[in-house]
Amino acid sequence: MSAIDVMTPPKLKPMPVSQPVELSPKPSLIGMTREEMGAALKEKGVADKQIKMRVSQLWNWIYVRGVSDFDAMANVSKDMREMLKTHFTIARPEIVEEQVSNDGTRKWLLRFPPRGAGRPVEIEAVYIPEEGRGTLCISSQVGCSLTCSFCHTGTQRLVRNLTAEEILSQLLLARDRLGDFPDREAPQGTVMPAEGRKVSNIVMMGMGEPLYNFESVKTALLIASDGDGLSLSKRRITLSTSGVVPEIYRTGDEIGVMLAISLHAVRDDLRDMLVPINKKYPLKELMDACRAYPGLSNARRITFEYVMLKGVNDSLEDAKGLIQLLKGIPAKINLIPFNPWPGTNYQCSDWEQIEKFADFINSAGYASPIRTPRGRDILAACGQLKSESERMRKTERLAFEAMMIANHGED
Ligand code: SAH
Ligand code: SF4
Repeated sequence: MSAIDVMTPPKLKPMPVSQPVELSPKPSLIGMTREEMGAALKEKGVADKQIKMRVSQLWNWIYVRGVSDFDAMANVSKDMREMLKTHFTIARPEIVEEQVSNDGTRKWLLRFPPRGAGRPVEIEAVYIPEEGRGTLCISSQVGCSLTCSFCHTGTQRLVRNLTAEEILSQLLLARDRLGDFPDREAPQGTVMPAEGRKVSNIVMMGMGEPLYNFESVKTALLIASDGDGLSLSKRRITLSTSGVVPEIYRTGDEIGVMLAISLHAVRDDLRDMLVPINKKYPLKELMDACRAYPGLSNARRITFEYVMLKGVNDSLEDAKGLIQLLKGIPAKINLIPFNPWPGTNYQCSDWEQIEKFADFINSAGYASPIRTPRGRDILAACGQLKSESERMRKTERLAFEAMMIANHGED
């Protein structure tokens, strides 16, 4: 596919939603592994011989039925429900704002309560329905400790890692709002997507570097793909990394989801500037890790993301280098038009150049879809979002939203 798919930007209708959730010190059952949940129940006095059954019951209510209230658990005794309510929570994060576009794209600004002595934090999740699939873009950190020079998140410091609960909550909340749990309807006032347009895919392409928050991301993704729960196929989960090589090996061995690499340059000198983690894990090591990624085949390819920066990495020489670099790796290439943000010195490549670049790659036999420029227009529309957050200023959020919308997942 080489055509630049220019679409009419969706008009986002702001839809204020208020669901203030009490800041609760109670631990959430969401994001616990089965073992952790069992241990937590045991600690509260549940008899050993009941633990396995209780964990299965709770797992089903939380992840299959999607309940967010212990009282909805009809086959759990009243005493047990009271005990659960006293000690645990399964509440969703607060929705600060929900925006719904005409084409079904949705964005949620979510607030998570403080952890320890910290403050509440806000992040966004974006849902993009397309023909035959719906992709949710999830964040793994608030801010990012890496400093990719073209990325606005990279200009913010890392506030903190999200917990497994907070990562999973983005998925649960999206499914709530889309009426995507069986026997649950979307809350009143929500625009239902066309049939079949629900969360079928997730991409860890929101804010943060998922492989710098490995344990929580791993726990969350294993729960998301658990066949007795949310049941998302690992082939429909894509984790995007700037190239944290040791954790790429671990991702293959311990998580087994699809991999996307933020490549953006094919020479070490340039990649050192664009994606500075390259100084620690240069291209050779990165490519070795990609080649060793388990289960690769034509049907299971690594996605290489390549942001098109005018006069920086967009020459045909670069395209040639890209083909050379990826030789022998089952790969797809995602060309991402750069989303400018206030203060950046980079510019997006001209469309003509992006097309030339894409044609070159296509003729070498690679599919290289070009991301639609929807994000740019949404950048303006997003000015309507309000935030109390001191941590993430409006401009930072706008660039981040645009990036997420621009980079939503592949098959
Ligand atoms: N930290 C991870 C995942 C989040 S970033 C990573 O870097 O892979 C998701 C994608 O958006 C990455 O490919 C990132 O390089 C890209 N991106 C960041 N800023 C961008 C911008 N301003 N325009 C276009 N893409 C951008
Ligand atoms: Fe962090 Fe990814 Fe942005 Fe780099 S591109 S600063 S790793 S979020």
